[in-house]
Amino acid sequence: MTSNSLIKEFKQSLNYDYGVEIENANLKELYNSLGKVLMGYVNKDWQKSIHSTSKRVGYLSAEFLIGRLLYANMLNMGVIEDVKKALESKGIDFNSFEDVEDAALGNGGLGRLAACFLESAASIGKKVDGYGLRYRFGLFKQSFVDGFQNEEADDWLKWGDPFSFRKEDESVIVNFADYSVRAVPYDTAVIGYNLKTINTLRLWQSEAINKFDFKAFDNMQGLKIAENDYKAEEITAVLYPNDNTYEGKKLRLRQQYFMVSATIQDVVNKYKKISNDFTKLNEYIIFQLNDTHPVLAIPELIRVLTTEGLSFEDALAIAKKTFNFTNHTIMGEALERWPLGMIYELIPAIGEILKMLENDIRHNLNDHRFFIVRDDVAYMANLAIYVAGKVNGVARIHTEILKNDTFKDWYEIYPEKFVNVTNGITPRRWLLLNNPKMAKEITKLIGDKWPTNLDSLVNLESYINNKEFVEAFKNIKHENKLILADYIKKHEGIEIDADSIFDIQIKRLHEYKRQLLNALSILYIYFELKEGNLKDLPKVTFIFGAKSAPGYYMAKAIIKFINEIANLINNDQEISSRIKVVFVQNYNVSYAEKLVCACDFSEQISMAGMEASGTGNMKFMLNGTPTLGTLDGANVEICEEAGKENNYIFGATVEEVKEVKNNYNSGAIINGNLKLKRVVETLVDGTFNDNNTGVLKSIYDTLYHNDTYLVAYDFASYIETKLKAFKEYGSNEYFYKCLKNMANAGKFSSDRSIRDYVEEIWHI
Ligand SMILES: *Cc1c(COP(=O)(O)O)cnc(C)c1O
Repeated sequence: MTSNSLIKEFKQSLNYDYGVEIENANLKELYNSLGKVLMGYVNKDWQKSIHSTSKRVGYLSAEFLIGRLLYANMLNMGVIEDVKKALESKGIDFNSFEDVEDAALGNGGLGRLAACFLESAASIGKKVDGYGLRYRFGLFKQSFVDGFQNEEADDWLKWGDPFSFRKEDESVIVNFADYSVRAVPYDTAVIGYNLKTINTLRLWQSEAINKFDFKAFDNMQGLKIAENDYKAEEITAVLYPNDNTYEGKKLRLRQQYFMVSATIQDVVNKYKKISNDFTKLNEYIIFQLNDTHPVLAIPELIRVLTTEGLSFEDALAIAKKTFNFTNHTIMGEALERWPLGMIYELIPAIGEILKMLENDIRHNLNDHRFFIVRDDVAYMANLAIYVAGKVNGVARIHTEILKNDTFKDWYEIYPEKFVNVTNGITPRRWLLLNNPKMAKEITKLIGDKWPTNLDSLVNLESYINNKEFVEAFKNIKHENKLILADYIKKHEGIEIDADSIFDIQIKRLHEYKRQLLNALSILYIYFELKEGNLKDLPKVTFIFGAKSAPGYYMAKAIIKFINEIANLINNDQEISSRIKVVFVQNYNVSYAEKLVCACDFSEQISMAGMEASGTGNMKFMLNGTPTLGTLDGANVEICEEAGKENNYIFGATVEEVKEVKNNYNSGAIINGNLKLKRVVETLVDGTFNDNNTGVLKSIYDTLYHNDTYLVAYDFASYIETKLKAFKEYGSNEYFYKCLKNMANAGKFSSDRSIRDYVEEIWHI
């Protein structure tokens, strides 16, 4: 691609599609035309890949948290510099596309993992296609009003979707007991790094079957049509904003079935064109189920195969070779269970198959511990484990907990099913794209192969004590902090000092992630400063980013609390020159890209045993940031790779948590620690204004009387470790830790995760 040819095509596209000249085009027009022009360069290769019949994986996921595709696609196509030059020659700011909003078709880690996995598979040349839902509205947009979370619809399509193609001809009909709908696929190219391969993300959109039934209009049934359209389109209208919780909502069940039915029909239709021997279906495709959300694919495949004439037993045998299951959490509230009555009401044929599966399990295992349906409730994780060839957890410690605890009984009878695949992140988006200066510096030292061979970062070890490299690292981190400070000024209206420590906790708001512990520690520091203690504490900016599920009362209360703390501290003349607190609004993938390369301490402070893996922790590590955290999820493996002594680890371990929980009295701990008590009392002593909602009192009560996640228990060791970390900041020891982390982040490339899946599970 030359600059000249690109500009020529760009102009043509703007002319054909919008009838505008490049000089007069608006951002939306520029974005869509540029996207289409880029697709023009890859469509031919993509078509080849689509029509190949080699064994592939279908990655089934209700969520794909994609973020922005324009820059990531240009990066993987190797055209960033060319496009930049071309645009600038026409006076167009390359960064102006940052105003195009993210495709946020996911909630958090699970959805982002799916996006990283697709990118990695394409980049290492493995045929893995994604299947999911094309939500009309993605994860809500968050703003703060009086410190409370406010939600607005995420109308992501208002910018257009130049990277997807509607495949009308490949629509299928999905039947529910009360009505049927059309599933229309939209295909997005997943472009591997250096164009290694191009895979497909197929997202299904629900529509009415006869959208334009003019006969009905003739009969004055227009209203009825509108109603049918609405019912059909409702299914993929909006992403459920719950992260790690299960809600037995009918529409959610419809979404799940819609997704899997469309996918299974699509795959079986295509398979029938090359073979009529369904016993070999697994040589054509196998499915990875991303959590329980797509587990109805199992009974749906059995249903479809029986309509093709197979017996239930034969169909089940095929399913057993075709599905694998990834578990993402041990939290009870996230394990999906559907009332059988609801399943019968919407999809009776699936209800029947679930009963047959329950009979099968009775017949084969005859043990009350193992069931799929019990008391008229279907247990999706049990179904998945029973049928799946392999079941995997997402970090070593998590898989161990699955084997020894959550699914102990299942592990006893199926030990060979359980495997670990530690999560990963794509180093293309999470270093090369978001931190280009650091990437360039790394390439200067160790060559340019690291983006697809991340283990080679370990070659940086020999430069860790090299003065020039350490200087370059410092300078780049500082430049990134300046860029973040600018961005925060623009988006939050708050000025922060790039010379202060950036202490960052960004992730969904969950009690188990313990943003509350962080908040209390900040208040502790505030009071200590007020009293004239902590004389040599360096200047710190505490940064939060987190969305709460709209119906999660306690999470929303914590957001309000943190915003009140920010308000208090930032407006305290005496203190605000020493510490500041910023809660950024609408934390998403694009914000994450800016935050993870500008961070000095990565807060990963969940109660041990609760965070299955975490992937945010890996993003920070890769960008050269030590973890301030607990021995939970992938933090354990991060410490193993980079050295525990090169991170700031505190708090109860999984074993200690179990022990402590035997007889835990948080009230006693709080009353026994006057400094902790003082910060906890601020929740009820009038320090803060919660606009008479009572939310702060609720936090107070849980802390005192429940404290499920051991905030009080871990408080002291957290404070101690955090202050030690701040004290060390800026020293040679500190930068040594930063570089140790960066140099040893190789394991956390999602390329490695995909290779693990290939070797242990998929065998493609
Ligand atoms: C990586 C990422 C997450 C996951 O963060 P954790 O700290 O692992 O929970 C969530 N949301 C966004 C936008 C991300 O980029």
